[in-house]
Amino acid sequence: MEAPQQLRPDASAEAALSPTSILMVDDHGANLLALEAILEPLGQRLVKAASGPEALRWLLRQDFALILLDVQMPGMDGFETARLIRQRQRTRYTPIIFLTAHSREETHLVHGYAMGAADYVVKPFHPDVLRWKVEAFVALYRQQQRLQAQEAALWERERHILERQSEQRFRRLVDSMPQLVWALLVDGTVSYANRGWLEYAGLTPEQARRSEENRRLIHPEDVARCGQAWARSLRTGEPLEQEYRLRRAKDGEFRWFLGRTLPERDEDGQIVGWIATATDIDDARKAVEVLRAASEAKDMFLTMAAHELRTPLQAARSYAHLARVRSGPEMDEGVDKALRGLHRSVTRMASLVENLLDVGRLQRGELRLEQGDVDLGTLLHDVVEHFQPLAQEHHIAVDAPEGLVLRADRERLEQVFTNLVANGLRYSPGGGALRLTARQEPGQVHVEVTDRGVGIPQGQLEHIFERFNRAHGISYGGLGLGLAISRGIVERHGGRIWAESPGRDGVGSSFHVVLPKQRG
Ligand code: ADP
Repeated sequence: MEAPQQLRPDASAEAALSPTSILMVDDHGANLLALEAILEPLGQRLVKAASGPEALRWLLRQDFALILLDVQMPGMDGFETARLIRQRQRTRYTPIIFLTAHSREETHLVHGYAMGAADYVVKPFHPDVLRWKVEAFVALYRQQQRLQAQEAALWERERHILERQSEQRFRRLVDSMPQLVWALLVDGTVSYANRGWLEYAGLTPEQARRSEENRRLIHPEDVARCGQAWARSLRTGEPLEQEYRLRRAKDGEFRWFLGRTLPERDEDGQIVGWIATATDIDDARKAVEVLRAASEAKDMFLTMAAHELRTPLQAARSYAHLARVRSGPEMDEGVDKALRGLHRSVTRMASLVENLLDVGRLQRGELRLEQGDVDLGTLLHDVVEHFQPLAQEHHIAVDAPEGLVLRADRERLEQVFTNLVANGLRYSPGGGALRLTARQEPGQVHVEVTDRGVGIPQGQLEHIFERFNRAHGISYGGLGLGLAISRGIVERHGGRIWAESPGRDGVGSSFHVVLPKQRG
């Protein structure tokens, strides 16, 4: 342990006892020699400079405990030199003793102190007096250095203790986690594994450090895939996320885990290791499997039920029609009304059944398109014409340029716009205008169906395209299938459909359909 050793008093005293440096500055060589002779007995390193600039150069190179500075020098005098010394951060507090041959006048002294002198000696000086002064400054400097060394050692020790504490806290935290956690060295070897992993895998800490011991616990079918992904991450430094199965020691069961591995980087961005975690997702995966199976069974049941209903509904519709035709013109008015009502209801049921079948087809990817040249303007007018007798309180307008032709399945597109117009009418219970606008855009056509109805809340604008999803509850009827089918059809054409609405009643909604002119 190096840190406590640094605190031993003899160690710092030793450091402080090595000679310190004293800088002597005088333009007379004889004076410098005299100073050297006086100070030599102190056993310190004495450095001589013959001018202010030379002294400054020395100060750039190293630290001094003290500077003895002659005031009277040609060129840069002592005061100017002292001023420059004080300007530098590193030498701002280095003590300076001015040496002067004359003038004990107070103003001169004051000027000297103002330039940063720590003391003053007038030539000719008494050797012992000068030596005592210098000795005092050297002792002060040493004391200062000792304090600094102790402070640094204390810091170091405190940092060491804090690091150990935080390391222990980290280990405790990681050991208490339900996840499996590993710390890896930069080359991928395991340096630490948490208690969760040791218990799950039935390994000792030493065994867990051996990569092959860890690898043996991965499901044989996942080993190659995991190994490749990990090798890629080691090469590129990319974080890794993958699912794999790990064998549980206590019963030999393989359970699914979500594994994440992140690189640890130093301040320069260099990878210094990896942290890997694995979270048990086995129960969640099984629950999803069960849900998926249940959902598939439900879809299958709906499709089969729809298929079974189709034939009797067709028959019922035909019988209603036949009954009206056979009864001839003298049919009782009440009977005629009932037969028409019956025909309408059966037709509606048949269309719901067709919707259920379409949803099934789309899900299985079995919706086939009969492509042909479709004049969009004509198609939109036909759709609107179909609704006109039913939409007494609504005015439906079509605005489409002539000759807007695209490759598409006419019947399926008609189904899309019939859906959109039917919705526009259904969700505008108070009446209001409905508008269909088509325009040509580069390589595509853009149709907008706008109503002034109840609008759609912002958070629902995407969800309404999901099967069985309704933004307005059951009050308006409908199964919530029309938009899901419309989106399926539009996307099969390579197009996009979306809704926009401020979500306020009376302001309404717009449905946008964009279709490529030529399917690529
Ligand atoms: P539904 O048969 O329920 O109308 P859709 O799939 O056609 O099924 O529509 C899904 C939901 O989207 C609707 O239940 C309704 O809440 C909302 N919606 C569709 N069109 C409009 C519209 N023009 N104005 C307001 N809401 C609409």
